[in-house]
Amino acid sequence: MNLNESSVRQLATAIRQGDLAFQDCIDHFASVTKQLNPDINAFREFKFPTSPPAQSGPLAGIPIGIKDGICTENFKTAASSSMLAEYQAPYNASVIESLNAAGALCVGKTNMDEFAMGSSTENSFFGNTRNPWDQNRVPGGSSGGSAAAVAAGMVPLALGSDTGGSIRQPAAFCGITGLKPTYGLVSRLGLIAFASSLDQIGPMGRSAEDVAIMLNAIAGHDRDDSTSASYTPPDYTQSLEQDLNGIRVGVCKNELDDHVEPSVRNAVAQSIEVLKDLGAQIVDVELPHEKYAVAAYYIVAPCEASSNLSRYDGVRYTARSDSNQLADMYTKTRSQHFGPEVKRRILLGTYALSSGYYDQYYIKGSKVRRLIKQDFEKAFETVDLIAGPTTPTTAFEMGAKTTDPIQMYLADVFTVSANLAGIPAISIPCGFADGLPIGMQLQSPAFHESQLLNVAHRFQTATDWHLRRPNI
Ligand code: GLN
Repeated sequence: MNLNESSVRQLATAIRQGDLAFQDCIDHFASVTKQLNPDINAFREFKFPTSPPAQSGPLAGIPIGIKDGICTENFKTAASSSMLAEYQAPYNASVIESLNAAGALCVGKTNMDEFAMGSSTENSFFGNTRNPWDQNRVPGGSSGGSAAAVAAGMVPLALGSDTGGSIRQPAAFCGITGLKPTYGLVSRLGLIAFASSLDQIGPMGRSAEDVAIMLNAIAGHDRDDSTSASYTPPDYTQSLEQDLNGIRVGVCKNELDDHVEPSVRNAVAQSIEVLKDLGAQIVDVELPHEKYAVAAYYIVAPCEASSNLSRYDGVRYTARSDSNQLADMYTKTRSQHFGPEVKRRILLGTYALSSGYYDQYYIKGSKVRRLIKQDFEKAFETVDLIAGPTTPTTAFEMGAKTTDPIQMYLADVFTVSANLAGIPAISIPCGFADGLPIGMQLQSPAFHESQLLNVAHRFQTATDWHLRRPNI
């Protein structure tokens, strides 16, 4: 059995039936990680168990990478910040408990942009992560470590979090499949908060089927998270094979115009043809307010962040700068232990929430958010889902956008809307340009993950983009 090529279902079945020794499976992924992580820097920290007790469950024996912003008892949780570099969480996030219950092995913490703010994993206190397809390029962000770990074959699955695209954009850049669930479908308990009304944890893997298996383990109501939806999720593997006859796929022309790189545009246009060949009916839709989504997001998200990050004051968490004056200690701690992008967001958010500017910025951003949500509601009256590019370009070179935050923010044009509207969205590999993967995004109404996974799976049955592996 070639463990590099095997799906999660194949691995788990082989382990369950005794065709693959538990330890051999772990040893395989441990050796790939030991070999590649020094170059790729996908994991901040990892530890593959030797002789773990045999588990049962749908993910029994499957090693999983965990984004460093998700609290774990067995590893530190730094959210890639100097502020939390030594932070040991006293409890597991609910998703970790769910993965453990499904038999999975959480084997390490993956690198990310500090506090999940960024689109390239260049804002990490622990150094850049490299894209396994081209090590001079970024893996995307902020869940860049999770995406790179899966793409490089270090782990079959990883957890990411997505506030404005942080699962989908790195999935697109690294040639893997990543799903941002409906807001409230997956518990946020134990996810270090960035922007609480937008944050969602979600699965990242090589295929829609793998992602569906992981979503089964983590989706569902959590009474300890007040924003968790009272909703009983279906078995997401049950509808994967459904045929696509008559399914209505919306395409928004603006998403395929000239601010999108031609290679990306062509790959997505061809992939929409594939969906058509599979029986889908292609329908034009309009999302008139999408062009304001980045602007609205970069008001709403920093506002929430400035409030969430006020807790890092040097008193309750690990990092603290020396001073015998309280106010001075706060200032020094926050000046020394937050990176530049995090400081920029705190400043933006504090400004936009301040008296006199609140109406002009935060309230206005929230109104645009409502309009974006209504655009989707209108579009979903005539279509079942919307297909388009995940990102306007393929993975960019390291350093290309670090001096120009606006350019970095514009990398999120197609992903932030789903967070603002609370709807689910998936990115799946749909082509290559100059050896770099391209992602197609599918978005659907809230709680229609089954349908997204069904369409993604059928697409992956008809294409082999998701099966390609980087040559490392
Ligand atoms: N790139 C976006 C940002 O920097 C999204 C990040 C995320 O989804 N966590 O805010």
